[in-house]
Amino acid sequence: MLTELKPGIFYWQGGVNFGVVLGESGEIILIDAGLDAGAPRKALRPFLEQGYRLAAVVATHCHADHIGGAAELHRRHGPAVYAPAPEHVILEHPDLAPMAIYGASPPPGLSVKFLRPPAPCPAMALPREGLFEVAGRSLEIVPLPGHSPAQVGIAVDGVLFAGDGVFLPEVLERHPVLFLVRVDAFLASLERLLARPEGLIVPGHGPHLDRGADPGGDGDPLRVAVEADRGHVRRIGSLILDILVDGPLSEDDLQDRLAARLGKTYDSDVSYYLDHAALRAHLSELARQGAVAPAYAGSRRRWQRVAGVPGAGAGAAAAAAHPG
Ligand SMILES: [Zn+2]
Repeated sequence: MLTELKPGIFYWQGGVNFGVVLGESGEIILIDAGLDAGAPRKALRPFLEQGYRLAAVVATHCHADHIGGAAELHRRHGPAVYAPAPEHVILEHPDLAPMAIYGASPPPGLSVKFLRPPAPCPAMALPREGLFEVAGRSLEIVPLPGHSPAQVGIAVDGVLFAGDGVFLPEVLERHPVLFLVRVDAFLASLERLLARPEGLIVPGHGPHLDRGADPGGDGDPLRVAVEADRGHVRRIGSLILDILVDGPLSEDDLQDRLAARLGKTYDSDVSYYLDHAALRAHLSELARQGAVAPAYAGSRRRWQRVAGVPGAGAGAAAAAAHPG
C-alpha cells in the first residue's frame, strides 16, 4: 500500500517499507528496495506509466530485506544505486551478507533470500553524512549506526526514512531479540533520531509515525518507540548478567538460557544465528564496560561475570551515558 506523506513523497508499507520520492524532472528515487523487486515494481508502476523514470535507489543499510530488489530493478530500469559505505560492497558481493553473520562461508541454511541478496548489483557509496543531491532532490544523510555497521536515515522535506534505526513497540513484541551489531552506537543513534526536526518518520517495519505538534515531547510516538528500544537493550543486558550469576557459560549455553527467559525457541539457522550475532553484540558491549570477560579452561571458552560490577546491564550504563 502506497501512502503519500508530502507532495511527491510516498512510502510503501509492507513486510519491509520503502520510500518513493519524485524529483522535479520526472525522476524517481526509491529509498530501499524491498526483500525482492515485487513490491517496488508494484509501487513504481503507476509512476512509470505516467512517464517517470527510476533514476536512483538509495539504501538505508544493506540487509537483504532492504536491498534484495535492487539488482532486478537495476537490470530493468538502470538506476544509480547508492548505499552507506562500507556496506555498499554487499550489493556487489552478496555472499558477504550471510558471511558477516556467520564469520565464515555460511552453511546452506544461511544462504537464503532473507539474508543474502539474490544477485550482485553495481553500487556507489553515499556520503557519510549531510546533503546528497540526487535526481533533482536534496536528501540529507543521517548516520544511525548500531543495527548495522553504517545504517543511515534519509531526510527529505520534513520526512525521515529511518530504515532500521528505530523499531516500533509492535516489532519488539514479535522480535524479543533485536538484531544489533553495536549496542552503544544503536543507543546513540536513537538519541540522534529523537533530536531530528522531521515531523514524519518512516521506520523500516510498521506504520509511519506522525510526531504531531511537539516533536520530542511526551506525545511524540517516536519518543515512545525510542524508549521501548532503550528498554529492550537494557533488558537483554540485564538478563545476560543475571544468567551469568550462576557461573560461566559458553555462548551457545548462554543463548539457550536467554531464549528460555524470553520464551523463545529456534528451528532454523537464520533465527538462531541472527540472535547469536545480537547476543554477541551485547556481550561485546558488556565486555567493553568491564562487566563480563572470557574465561578459558583447557579448550573451553566461556563468558563470566566480572566480580564487583553491579548488575544494571549494558543498556542501563550506555543509556545513562546518552541521556535523552
Ligand atoms: Zn535491517
